[in-house]
Amino acid sequence: MNIKNTDSQFVAPTYARFPVTVVSGDGSRVFDENGKEYIDLSTGIAVNTFGVADREWVAAVTEQLGRISHTSNLYYNEPCAKLAEALCTATGMSKVFFSNSGAEANECAIKAARKYAADKKGAEYFNIITLRNSFHGRTLATLTATGQDAFHNDFLPLLDGFVYADANDAEALRRLLDSNKCAAIMLEVVQGEGGVLPLKEDYLAAVQDLADRYDVLLICDEVQIGNGRSGKLYGYMNYGLKPDIVTTAKGLSGGLPLGATLFSERVGNVLTAGTHGSTFGGNPVCCAAALNVLSRLDEATLAGVREREAYIRDALVGARGVKSVTGLGLMLGIETERNADEIIAECIERGVLVIKAKNKLRLLPALNIPFDLLERALDVIKQACAG
Ligand code: PLP
Repeated sequence: MNIKNTDSQFVAPTYARFPVTVVSGDGSRVFDENGKEYIDLSTGIAVNTFGVADREWVAAVTEQLGRISHTSNLYYNEPCAKLAEALCTATGMSKVFFSNSGAEANECAIKAARKYAADKKGAEYFNIITLRNSFHGRTLATLTATGQDAFHNDFLPLLDGFVYADANDAEALRRLLDSNKCAAIMLEVVQGEGGVLPLKEDYLAAVQDLADRYDVLLICDEVQIGNGRSGKLYGYMNYGLKPDIVTTAKGLSGGLPLGATLFSERVGNVLTAGTHGSTFGGNPVCCAAALNVLSRLDEATLAGVREREAYIRDALVGARGVKSVTGLGLMLGIETERNADEIIAECIERGVLVIKAKNKLRLLPALNIPFDLLERALDVIKQACAG
């Protein structure tokens, strides 16, 4: 069977795939159908937190699979309850809603913010402010929340009730809060799909201040930067923010579909029985996977993330053909003189998987990538950047 041909014939053509079929892996190394080895700096777009086929993770998932792989949310399940407790203990939040993806985690946040504002201030306080150049998902609400016209164009009309602010402009945000009845401000502390751009520290402090002053909720979208990738458990923790709602997915379960929306005390009981739900959300296998990931995101792992970030910056900042390195922790963007597509093709050819964000290379290695693999991958990237 020619996998690429079959895929092209039968899978909806929504992805511009790279010419690689990944069939197996071991940590930060993955293999194609011919046994060619690649060093993986893409981790399924920030999903495989500890790489592929990680033994401990596989054992946790397999153990749960052997007990029960699914029940419904009409009954209690142990991994779901334990994971919610672990997330709340680690963050100080008070309640968690589980779903299956980042977009769904954000949908839930948007619903909760609207209901909170409607209950507290009136139904006309429905607007959500998001930032230009953000990315929040591809469902219609999260697509509308996404502040990039390119994602909107084919799907008009979008939803009512979203207002866009330029990132890093606190005065513009204040004006929007003055002129719109708002429920929430939603942002990524590092804009991932937008080009791996961290928001400025003083801007984030101003956002927190404005959210407090105007009594609107602060929603941090931690789908990509969350779960240890920033060098802290969640990205917002690097900036001293106190979000009312935190959304996450991707790396939370380390390779299975799981989304989570975390609520602070004041929003914890907004979504009541019947107001929201999901068939698969809180699935015991996905939650067992996430419990394993979360239990390993300790200070030693987080210190390892920061160490690897420094190692990468050391290798790439000032290297020939590298214009800039942006991002935080192990979510880094490399602006290059040479066209990024050409560099990526060359890296793939030479056994390194990297992806793109806007016109940059995007590095999202496993949080525990061994330094020797990282060194080998960076040598290839440096040579490709130098042209
Ligand atoms: N939010 C952010 C910040 C993301 O980076 C993404 C995906 O890239 C999403 C939301 C959507 O997540 P999902 O693809 O799991 O729906």
